[in-house]
Amino acid sequence: MSEMPAPRRPLATLVRHPRFLATTSCFLGVLALVSVVCFHFPDLLTSREFRAVYTEDFARTLLLIGLSLAFFTGTLAVLRDEHKRLAFTGVGTATAALLLGGADVPFEGPIRQTPYSLGLDWFVLSLFVSALVFIPLEHHFARRPVAVFRHGWRTDAAYFFMSHVLVQFILILVTTSTGLVVDTAKHEGLQAWIGGLPFVAAFLLAVFVADAAQAVLHRCYHRVMVLWRFHAVHHSSPELDWLAGSRVHFVETVLTRSVVLLPLLFLGFSQPVVNAYAVLVGIQAVVAHANIGIRFGWLEYVITLPRYHHWHHARHTDYWDRNYAIHLPVVDMLMGSFRLPRDGSWPEEYGVFKRESVPEGFVAQHVAPFRGERTYDTYVH
Ligand SMILES: [Zn+2]
Ligand SMILES: [Zn+2]
Repeated sequence: MSEMPAPRRPLATLVRHPRFLATTSCFLGVLALVSVVCFHFPDLLTSREFRAVYTEDFARTLLLIGLSLAFFTGTLAVLRDEHKRLAFTGVGTATAALLLGGADVPFEGPIRQTPYSLGLDWFVLSLFVSALVFIPLEHHFARRPVAVFRHGWRTDAAYFFMSHVLVQFILILVTTSTGLVVDTAKHEGLQAWIGGLPFVAAFLLAVFVADAAQAVLHRCYHRVMVLWRFHAVHHSSPELDWLAGSRVHFVETVLTRSVVLLPLLFLGFSQPVVNAYAVLVGIQAVVAHANIGIRFGWLEYVITLPRYHHWHHARHTDYWDRNYAIHLPVVDMLMGSFRLPRDGSWPEEYGVFKRESVPEGFVAQHVAPFRGERTYDTYVH
């Protein structure tokens, strides 16, 4: 089990990859086209909550940079005769984005209020930033060399797309399911005490409370057959990287977010504290799965970092019931489920024990947990 991280790879080898230019062009061209369409139908395609986080100018500047780079890398790939189909897709989508208005796409506010909208803006920005940060990081500090387009990446990209685009629906389901309980159960003395805490103290307490709730539920996911059916999907990835963490069944997404939010609302944490927690969980969920083999020393015992969560995904009998925390290992220490090899080693294999118990593909994985013929034995590790 003592597999050490792969040697560092210089970033130049990523840029010199034969598909780098064409893929970059295709990636940016498609994102630019989606962004321009968002400008045309902001009331339907962009999320009210996320729009508040960025400005129109910021979106236009990013769009201009994306479009320029899509044309530049695509043209260069065509001239160098590299993966022309991908390159033409990049230049083609960028051209379509330009014809639809490009970075100067007309936009007239205010945005009409609609009861429901998609979160395509959230998807585009989140994918762009994550790819920009994690692809070079994972290339350079790889724990083991995993290709960007490894087996199953399309499935995980579909999960990423769903969890971002449907953000508002998930939010509605979560607030509806938690609202009822919070309205009926209130402890005003406790809420007043928490309301009076300084921001940093309230935030740390919120992270601890939320992670404790998450870890208890997470243990249930592993031990209760009905729940494991859903959670097995998350554990089915044979490789871990920043995108693999997105593989979460829709039912699990809604249930986990509700269970985590419940104590935060019940204890009366302020909206800024809850928002800060939401940002942290978004970042840490990606980081924990990332294929980054950096050693963090004592810090690995204080906050959940890749090696800690990678052991949770290990295909290893000693670890199937370990490391449930997603923020603070101390939660596992308190629950008796903490285990991290002191020698800095990493798991050799990831995934469920019976790989055949989880099908491949986004749709099949969503349907499988509802099919009743499987027994506990088929599912459990
Ligand atoms: Zn798990
Ligand atoms: Zn995970």
